[in-house]
This record gives sequence, C-alpha cells and structure tokens, in this order.
Amino acid sequence: MAKLRFILGDHLSRSVAALRDIDPANDVVLMAEVGSESTVVGFHKQKLVFIYSAMRHFADELREEGIRVDYVRLDAEGSTQSLEGELARALARHWVDGVVVTEPGAFRVRDMMNGWSERLGVPVDIHEDDRFVCSHDRFASWAGDRKSLRMEFFYREMRRLTGFLMQDEAPEGGQWNFDVDNRESLPPDYQPPRRLRFEPDATTREVIDLVRNRYAKNFGDLEPFQWAVTRSGALDALDHFIAEALLGFGTYQDAMKTGEPFLHHGLLSPYLNVGLLTAAEVCAAAERAYLEGHAPLNAVEGFIRQIIGWREYIRGVYWLKMPEYAQTNELDAHRDLPWFYWSGNTRMNCMAQAIGDTSRHAYAHHIQRLMVTGNFALLAGIEPAQIEYWYLAVYIDAFDWVELPNVHGMVMFADGGLLASKPYVASGAYINRMSDYCGNCFYSPKIKEGERACPFTLLYWNFLMENRPKLGGNRRLAMPYRNLDRMDDRQRGLIQMQARAFLNGLSATADEDPAPQL
Ligand code: FAD
Ligand code: SF4
Repeated sequence: MAKLRFILGDHLSRSVAALRDIDPANDVVLMAEVGSESTVVGFHKQKLVFIYSAMRHFADELREEGIRVDYVRLDAEGSTQSLEGELARALARHWVDGVVVTEPGAFRVRDMMNGWSERLGVPVDIHEDDRFVCSHDRFASWAGDRKSLRMEFFYREMRRLTGFLMQDEAPEGGQWNFDVDNRESLPPDYQPPRRLRFEPDATTREVIDLVRNRYAKNFGDLEPFQWAVTRSGALDALDHFIAEALLGFGTYQDAMKTGEPFLHHGLLSPYLNVGLLTAAEVCAAAERAYLEGHAPLNAVEGFIRQIIGWREYIRGVYWLKMPEYAQTNELDAHRDLPWFYWSGNTRMNCMAQAIGDTSRHAYAHHIQRLMVTGNFALLAGIEPAQIEYWYLAVYIDAFDWVELPNVHGMVMFADGGLLASKPYVASGAYINRMSDYCGNCFYSPKIKEGERACPFTLLYWNFLMENRPKLGGNRRLAMPYRNLDRMDDRQRGLIQMQARAFLNGLSATADEDPAPQL
C-alpha cells in the first residue's frame, strides 16, 4: 500500500500530519516549486527565497533519514507549474495507491484539493493540520452562533487547554492579561538587543540567483537575505530571542524606532508559519524563561497571548468564515491603493519608514503593520481587497489564513466587528507618542491647519465624521466622538476640506507626493 505524500511549502515539519505514519520502504514524498503559487501575488523576493530554500533543505533532511523524495524544481523541464499538474505527473511516475496531504493554508487551495480525488482518479486523504493548538471543531464549538467573537475569551480557553502560565485553574500572577504594562515608548538612551541573522549557504545562494533571474521586478530587496531556512536555524533563532530579546518584549511591544525594525520582537512568524517551529515549543520556551526567572511575567504572558491567543484566534476565524468572509466591505471602502505603498516615496515619514523596513527585510513589526500602514489604509478608505493583496505580497510570514483576517477584520473592519470590537484608528498623536518618526517628518502632528498638518490626524477626524452612521454607536469609540463633538462647525468643516483635498491627491499609479491642495 504505497502512498504519495504531497508536502507543500508551508508543511515543513517532520511532525506534519501527512508524514506522521510514513512508510519509508514504500512511500514517496512529493515536493514541487510551482509558478502558479509563486505568482498568486507579486511576492517579496525574500519570501520566495525563504520558501524555496526551506523546501530544498527540508527535502535534503528527509533524504538523510532514508525517505525517498521526488522534488520538482521551479525550472524543471516539463513542469506544469501547478500543484495539480505536478501531482498528476508524479502519479504517472510512481506506482502508488493513494495520495496523502495535509490541508493547506489557503481556502483557494483547499477548494482545489477537494476535487483532486475525482479529477486524478486516486484516493486523496486530506489530513487536518494539527500543528495548531485549537482544532477546527473546537473553534467552531467555542464560536457557537455568536455574532461577534472576542480574542480575550478565546485566549483564556487556550490557556486552560494548554496549561501555559496556569496555577491549577487560575492564571499565573492572578491576571489573564498584563497588557496595561506593555505600552511604553522607548527611553532616549534605549539600546535594542542584538539580533541573530543568518548567512546564506550554497542552497540559499542558488535560490537567490533563481529569484534574481525570474522575479527581478517583484517588490523588495533580495539581499542581504538573513533569515534561517532550516529547523536547526529556526531553533537557534528561538533560543537567541528568549535569551536576548524576550525580556523587553512586553514593555516595548508597541514602540517604533527609525532604523530599528526588530526591537524586542520574536522574528519567529516565518518559521512558525512554514513549520520549522511549533507554537507549543515556542510557548514552552518562553514559559521556561519565566519559571527560571530570566523574563518577567508581562513579557512572557504577552508573548504567549500572541501565539495561543491571536494566532490561533485569527486562524479559527479564517476557516470558520471563509469564503464569504473575504467578500464583506462594511465601511464601503473603494479607494485604490496609493502607489507609495510600493515605492515608499511619500512625505509621511512613518509610512516611508514602515514601507522601507518592509522592503529591506520583508518584515515590519505588528504595530507598524497595524497602526501605520494599516491605520492609513483604514482612514483613507482603501478597498479591502487591494490592501489585502499588498500585505500578502510584502511580508515573509504572509499566508492567506493569517494575513487575510488580520487585514480584513483587524485593520479594515470590513467584517463589521466580527473579529475586533472596534476599528484600530489613531491620529498622528499616537504615532508621535510611540515612535521617533514625527521629528523627521515634513508634517507635524501638532499642526492642525495648512500644508504641514499631519494627514493621519486630518484623516482620523474625517473618518469618524464620515462613518458616524455606522460607528457612532460603538461604545469603544465614545470618547473620540465626544472629542469630535467638542469642536465647532468651522473646525470640523476645515478638517473635512483638508482631508478630502489630501485624499484627492493620492495616486494609484504614480509617486505623487500627496501634499494637500487647498
Ligand atoms: P512577535 O511580535 O514576536 O509576536 C510573536 C508571535 O505572535 C508572532 O511570531 C506571530 O506568530 C504571533 N502573532 C502575533 N500577533 C498575531 C496576529 N495578529 N495574528 C497572527 N499571529 C500573531 N502575522 C503573520 O504571521 N502573517 C501575516 O501575514 C500577518 N499579517 C498581518 C497583517 C496585519 C495588517 C497585521 C496587523 C498583523 C499581521 N500579522 C501577521 C500578525 C503580526 O503582525 C505578525 O505575526 C508579527 O509581526 C510577526 O513578527 P514577529 O514574529 O516578530 O512577532
Ligand atoms: Fe506620520 Fe503624521 Fe508623524 Fe508625519 S507627522 S510621521 S505623517 S504621524
């Protein structure tokens, strides 16, 4: 009973469901680099290098274990450049009586997989991806028929389920969440921790050349490429994070600094998302650091919440609500994505810095994604599908199941509050408090009128005014609406006029600098 075990680019765990009961004497592992997946969007060059290099290394590791691997390279002669086409070709090469695969990370691919058995004339066993803490069934039964879901309550369930930071039934330290301790801006003499970066080996260098030749026009810098591409590299990255950066993870989680894209963040999401690390081992390492006295509770609880809370919650929402989820557009946002999202060429320094970090590293940390590039997209009324395309393209850790709900729900409020209880909107004052960006900006968060008035502040008030029919009753926005109501008609009219002029100056095709034309 030989099986063909099809391993996709984000299934690179030895413990992934499709490999668990492999019979090395009879079974064959199929892995394929295919153009149809690498051109779904114009991916950042480093994302392509990361996936292909990690796939090639993983195939080598399986071979070292004595497992037969049929690996189809991107430039292989006769390649159909599609997952289904390569599966069909492999079935003609190998005498097997079934295919085993783990469910993919995109609804689009899952839909395609459902038809494989019939179209290819062979039994296809699609296993649930159980590398996550919460199964689909468990999430569905937790969600029940609630109209809106809240991460915080889900997270408590996950703490009870996993036992992380639990004392019997009670949370460690007497509280579930220590976020109030986690909103510090950086002190003037702040020194970021040293970060571990990885030199490309021969396999990675070969993939870098491939990407240089085939994807030269894609977004982002190809080099220096400094991500790990193996499990052992990812484990080193985890150890280094726990030893050097976890300590300040909570306190400075929301801070932003010019030229310091990483601060105390884990830089672990690419490894988690392709399977080089598991959620459970990463959380266990952080918990151990707390129990051994190397990291404070606010940092460790904050970190574990991101993984067994936000990451699992986001995934649960995706699989529970797709495909209808992606079609909603609660705030009726239809503006085209401004071109500067691709070029970084804008006078808004916070945007230029976040996009520049993204271009250099295929990475920006959560607050840059949420409160700078995401906040702007929401305030400017960008069409959800266009900004979703951008996030999927530019980040090394972007996969549909995690990118889409973060952008559609958390950033764009396009699901009408299913995922988050309020839109994450903020004015320039927030960015000024949490970063050093405003000091070097053409605009000023303190100026309210004229060409130097901060666009974030203008757009923030304009957003509240324009969306009042839908958002005016949201209790979590009561304070901003009270502040808006304190303004007189002249102030509100002037803000709207300036905001509209700014928005009219945005271009989806050129590097226009959107200075307000009053
Ligand atoms: P850390 O700050 O060290 O956080 C630790 C871990 O927590 C991360 O590695 C990640 O696995 C997890 N995590 C934290 N927040 C989230 C979240 N909201 N959703 C899922 N996991 C979370 N994360 C992705 O993995 N892929 C994406 O495509 C992605 N797109 C995003 C788009 C937007 C608009 C926003 C606001 C967030 C997005 N995130 C995404 C979540 C988060 O920003 C990244 O996981 C994080 O920045 C990765 O860097 P890190 O490993 O240094 O994270
Ligand atoms: Fe961004 Fe406004 Fe600050 Fe400039 S002044 S960096 S646009 S928040």
